[in-house]
Amino acid sequence: MSSKKRDYYEVLGVSKDASLNDIKLAYRRLARKHHPDLNKTDPKAKEKFIELQEAYEVLSDEQKRQNYDRFGHSGVQVDMSDFFSGGIPGIDELLKSIFGDFSPFGGFNDFGFGSRARRRTAPRREVGQDIEDRVEISFEEAMFGLKRDVVIERFTPCDQCEGTGAEDPSSVKNCPECQGSGRVRKMTQSGFGTIIRESTCYTCNGEGQVIDKKCKVCDGKKVVPEEKTIHVSIPPGVEDGVHLKVQGGGHVPSVNAIPGDLYLRIRVADNEQFIRRGNDLYTPIDIDIVTATLGGKIIVPTLNYKENKITEKDLPVPAGTQPGTEFRIKNRGVSYLRGKGRGDQYIIVNIEIPKKISEKQKELLLKFRELNK
Ligand SMILES: [Zn+2]
Ligand SMILES: [Zn+2]
Repeated sequence: MSSKKRDYYEVLGVSKDASLNDIKLAYRRLARKHHPDLNKTDPKAKEKFIELQEAYEVLSDEQKRQNYDRFGHSGVQVDMSDFFSGGIPGIDELLKSIFGDFSPFGGFNDFGFGSRARRRTAPRREVGQDIEDRVEISFEEAMFGLKRDVVIERFTPCDQCEGTGAEDPSSVKNCPECQGSGRVRKMTQSGFGTIIRESTCYTCNGEGQVIDKKCKVCDGKKVVPEEKTIHVSIPPGVEDGVHLKVQGGGHVPSVNAIPGDLYLRIRVADNEQFIRRGNDLYTPIDIDIVTATLGGKIIVPTLNYKENKITEKDLPVPAGTQPGTEFRIKNRGVSYLRGKGRGDQYIIVNIEIPKKISEKQKELLLKFRELNK
């Protein structure tokens, strides 16, 4: 390395008042330019790269940068020969150790680089918590389906502070511990050279930023409770106890986060006229002894799919109908959730034996018995 050190700002090509993001951007660009693995044409690539690394080490560290600004090169003790005693790491490995994993978009956009600087610096997109809620519906609603507005309470980013949690943008400071990267790395020497280990910064929980003055609306929590109305469409034939998933209906922890989902547990009220077994319905019906004996018409409740409600229907009963007889009404059962068609309804006959009869009725029954012999 040349005896006279170049100015670190000059090495990085940034101004004296460059932000940390600017420094990171410049470093990343130049690291790709000068890294000896990528630059085979410039014989001084390695030297330039080490110079760049040193400049970055100083300017990305708030304390070291302050010392450098005040005292120049003599204010900071940096010896990069130590850093590279095990050789220069591969470019990807090196950038990863400094900036964390690549974003899914193939760059470092998640780290707050670029003109549209984002607050969040965590390497992966946050995923919101799911919400579970209950919807109680009647049997009839379950049979014919329904649309329902469900009001849920969830967290969304605070509008006042745009989800930063800070009173104003100047209250957001780069985390002094990790200098905004959200990751802390420790370099240790081993027999194989320098080992760089990194982990989430505890001071800022990996967010890269700390807040001086909290937003008064959300008290620095970044999120506020929100009442949200969700339009839910419940299909006909839904069963008691199932969960309906509403994608994106859960909590939204930050501006860039993937919202959680909403799971609605459906409670279907019992209906004693219709007992569900799979897609079939069973309806117990009392029939008087005379109708059962002589035959006739009875009236039964049934699912009227033309009017989408429960209506009554005449059902002819043959003479001599026995207790426990099942009459099937085709296609009046429960709709299949998948595919077309429905189950059937079964009318189960119960013969009512009169408990109280008049003298006249008693007389006739006795006569009936007489004739029956
Ligand atoms: Zn931190
Ligand atoms: Zn706020």
